Amino acid sequence: MSLSPIRSFITELEARVLDGGEVSVDEATRLLEEVGRDELLDLMASADRIRRRFVGDEVHVCSILNAKSGRCSEDCGFCAQSARFKTGIDEYALVDPETAVTAAREAAGNGAEALGLVAAWRGLSVGPELDRVTELVAAVSEDGSVHCDASLGLISDPEVARRLKQAGLHTYNHNLETARSRFGEVCGTHGWEDRTRTIELVREAGMHVCSGGIVGMGETARQRAELACELRELDPDLVPLNFLNPVDGTPEGEAREPMSPTEALKCIAVFRFVLPKHHIMVAGGREVVLKSLSPLMYLAGASANMVGNYLTTGGASPEDDLAVIADMELALRTADGAPPPTPRPAASMAEATSEARS
Ligand code: SF4
Repeated sequence: MSLSPIRSFITELEARVLDGGEVSVDEATRLLEEVGRDELLDLMASADRIRRRFVGDEVHVCSILNAKSGRCSEDCGFCAQSARFKTGIDEYALVDPETAVTAAREAAGNGAEALGLVAAWRGLSVGPELDRVTELVAAVSEDGSVHCDASLGLISDPEVARRLKQAGLHTYNHNLETARSRFGEVCGTHGWEDRTRTIELVREAGMHVCSGGIVGMGETARQRAELACELRELDPDLVPLNFLNPVDGTPEGEAREPMSPTEALKCIAVFRFVLPKHHIMVAGGREVVLKSLSPLMYLAGASANMVGNYLTTGGASPEDDLAVIADMELALRTADGAPPPTPRPAASMAEATSEARS
């Protein structure tokens, strides 16, 4: 019996990618538009083979600490931390170095390779704020439990990137968020070019780059495919794929429902086709969107995971996340190659951060 046109197309694309070829925006769009429930497992099986060929069975795991929460001047329509939206989140000033080190040790205890320090503000320039941030970075970096990563907004001055690198920052996260063709509809206070310039400066300073985006914000299938291909062009070291977790009070949260679990699995698989050699991390929105199908993300091509809580919402327990990795017969990648430690409860990180809230 001959394969249906879309099954033949999946097979053809898999062979091309395994052979080192690329998937175009048109082709990724076709996968997103035409793969239905009947073909989803075929797509996932192909994505899984691509992951195993190019990335292997090691899973990168990291944690984040919301190091400064809320009151951000920007208007990103999906974000609970913008001062422009009433979302009722906890707001607090930059945490102190002891809090950051406590979080880093906890992240290491939960099997994470890195802790990302995240701050809700437009970005950093040279001045007292940068001095305080470099103290945090140096404290986590010198502690050495995990790599110190950060997501600190826009950078327009090479000196800022140089200072962060000098303080010991390993990887800088700055997401593209959504396709270039849609960015202006999601954020009006800064532009796509501000984001790509930030990534350029981070790279020039010698730091690793983590950059991905959010799907489920009303973008078309083509715009989803464009985002994946734009990320391929950017060539970051790690690609976080977030699913919109609609937060009441934000424009995107008020306008959308969470994506379905099967649609989310299809997105992960298509990103794997487009980005065969990159670590793809399923990050924000995982529990809300994938629900009980979360473990299948690895079979759809994901190769990285975020353990512990998100910025303003809770996550799955680290014990459960590590059990999934073991049950899937995947291996945890650790910063020093040591065997994974016994996980500790997620609650204590929240306790650590609450002490520093202003
Ligand atoms: S810049 Fe960052 S913290 Fe500020 S509103 Fe946008 S996503 Fe949220």
